[in-house]
Amino acid sequence: MTTLMGCIADDFTGATDLAGLLARSGHSVSLRIGVPEGSPNDAAAFEVVALKCRTAPVPDAVAECRAALRWLQEAGSRQIFWKYCSTFDSTAEGNIGPVAEALMNDLGAKQTIYCPAFPENGRSIFMGHLFVGRQPLHESPMKDHPLTPMRDSNLLRLLTPQVTKPVGLVDRLTVERGVAAVRAELAALAAEGVANVVVDAVADADLHVIAEACLDMPLLTGGSAVAMPLPALLQKQAGAAPPTTAHLRPKIDAPSIVLSGSCSAMTRAQVAQYAAHAPHYRLDPLDLAENGISDALNWLMQVPLNEAPMLYATADPKDVGAAQAKLGVAEAGRVVEVAIAELASAAREAGRRRFVIAGGETSGAVTKALGVTRLDIGEEIAPGVPWTYAESGGSLIALTLKSGNFGQPGFFAEAVAKLEAE
Ligand code: ADP
Repeated sequence: MTTLMGCIADDFTGATDLAGLLARSGHSVSLRIGVPEGSPNDAAAFEVVALKCRTAPVPDAVAECRAALRWLQEAGSRQIFWKYCSTFDSTAEGNIGPVAEALMNDLGAKQTIYCPAFPENGRSIFMGHLFVGRQPLHESPMKDHPLTPMRDSNLLRLLTPQVTKPVGLVDRLTVERGVAAVRAELAALAAEGVANVVVDAVADADLHVIAEACLDMPLLTGGSAVAMPLPALLQKQAGAAPPTTAHLRPKIDAPSIVLSGSCSAMTRAQVAQYAAHAPHYRLDPLDLAENGISDALNWLMQVPLNEAPMLYATADPKDVGAAQAKLGVAEAGRVVEVAIAELASAAREAGRRRFVIAGGETSGAVTKALGVTRLDIGEEIAPGVPWTYAESGGSLIALTLKSGNFGQPGFFAEAVAKLEAE
């Protein structure tokens, strides 16, 4: 099969979010963890390469993304989508802009759009300002993110220090006027040399207009939602028949485990809700740094296999700050990620096969430890969070990789129940 579109995502949960939304179209969607080795021989209609470069230095992120681009082009992708977080997680030294400019350069593109809006999850952009629900980004819980605290909501201001070419805006008033108006505005900006264009969107209808207006751009960038209309548009453009694939749902009878390394506000609510009903164990970064995972492991091993326990490092900003003050920001994050990854491997060895993982960086560490390289996308649990299926250590496992603020407070129980309902 020739790939209709290739996608590069800057973290794992972002990649599963995008893959889940693309899979709503019924097309086959495959997610690769890291740039696959060798030539593509069993490519899906939509290929998503998941990297772990959200907080990587610019040269490393650019090199990885360019390698992903080459593999996707070999798989037949003519159009590329660069996916980052719908809260534009990055710092002034961030790589969202530099990667976009490098990909544009390789693709011979003169312009691209930046549209992290995800209305279904409360992310909207108006006059270049990103909102999380009713709050501007810099007043939302994202201001306290452990790795990428977002202290400005203006996407043009966030992007400008990251890029070399001019930054512009297609605002909501233009998007409201439809596809032709957006195209005309993009062309006018291109004539002025504006290569990096933030595009406002507050509702799904806006994303449809934007996707159609930009369908011929070799590179699109944004959150996952603006990519959602693309499968139907690309299929129509290619004159292909609509897909008939039903959602993938292999049977996996083995038990579940919940592992959370996300400290985002929604994850904190999810952890609190799940802890009220399930066996749970709190991972303390300072204790982990000193004594490793043995206490946590002993606890896990005495939980009966028919129960779905939760181990979590999830903590409020005050406790995160205290751990970071003692260990350093990077080391606190690393200690937790290593511990959760080791616990995931131990759980698989003990026979658990269904993994609910919360946190983007955390998910990256877990999939790596489980030796997973390809995920085939199944049914969504919450918008942007599907169950996925993979080979790990010779067994088929189910994994769901939830980005920090996704899902409702009951997400963990919903995820576990969805597979048990088979
Ligand atoms: P999200 O998707 O919510 O951004 P991530 O897993 O991407 O979650 O990032 C959370 C980061 O915070 C990870 O590096 C994780 O190891 C780190 N972390 C988790 N718990 C704690 C804690 N209690 N103290 C300090 N850092 C923590």
